[in-house]
Amino acid sequence: MDTGLKDAVVVVTGGTSGIGLKTVRMLLTEGAKVSLCGRSEDRLNEAQEQLAVDFPDEQFAGFQCDVLDANAVGKMADATINQFGGVNVLINNAGQGRVSTFAETTDEAWLEELHLKFFSIIRPTRAFLPALERADNAAIVCVNSLLALQPEPHMVATSAARAGVLNLTRSLAAEFAPKGIRVNSILLGTVNSGQWQARYKRRAKPGESFEDWLARLADEKGIPLGRFGRPDEPARAITLLASPFCSYTTGTALDVSGGMARHI
Ligand code: NDP
Repeated sequence: MDTGLKDAVVVVTGGTSGIGLKTVRMLLTEGAKVSLCGRSEDRLNEAQEQLAVDFPDEQFAGFQCDVLDANAVGKMADATINQFGGVNVLINNAGQGRVSTFAETTDEAWLEELHLKFFSIIRPTRAFLPALERADNAAIVCVNSLLALQPEPHMVATSAARAGVLNLTRSLAAEFAPKGIRVNSILLGTVNSGQWQARYKRRAKPGESFEDWLARLADEKGIPLGRFGRPDEPARAITLLASPFCSYTTGTALDVSGGMARHI
């Protein structure tokens, strides 16, 4: 399948780990030029070293950038355009979930979560919009969660924020369609990534391996496909929505949850 992404310039926020890093690899394999970011310098350096083994240095550029910092995102946008000449696609992937019930969630935690979920999309979208408006085959893909439609009480703030983000992506799709920019999202279930490795360290039974812990959780959660997703699975969905292959699709949310969705 020709995705039409050869020589496209794609920005991947949170491209230094998990789903984002797999997406960067997939895009580079398709011949795209990729600008990626994360907050941790160590993680960024490690990701770039890994990428340099398989791809030429001039095909990608890494930035230490917090997507909530408007100034840093603006500098990343300028540097990306200077280096690659424009931007065709923005993938808003950076972030993490918050595990807490209503009783456990303070006002500060609510504000932090709502800020992260909304502004991790708002800031990069605002910074890259002028370049996207000038580009051919422009697209934005937002990484969202099935929690947007199927809230979980143990992730109360994340679920509410995710629903708002789904709503936001629909508004962006409508506003940007006349500019030729498609906006879509994916709705994730549970995908084995850096987030889950961190949770494993806090929550697994003594002596339980990471793989056994994931298998037990998949069983407890009743995931119909019987396992956690692999990062390459959402990465493929993101790449598809980013590509001109999906040129007549905007405003949609693609389910990548292993069958967890219960709604019709
Ligand atoms: P990882 O922890 O493996 O990757 C998260 C990436 O985002 C890292 O590169 C991280 O780097 C970066 N990041 C986090 N916050 C910021 C920030 N403020 N600015 C810039 N970069 C940031 O997790 P996943 O791959 O699982 O997560 C990818 C996305 O998928 C996230 O938005 C997550 O919420 C979402 N998601 C994941 C699910 C799953 O089961 N894995 C389920 C539902 C949604 P650094 O920390 O160095 O900044």
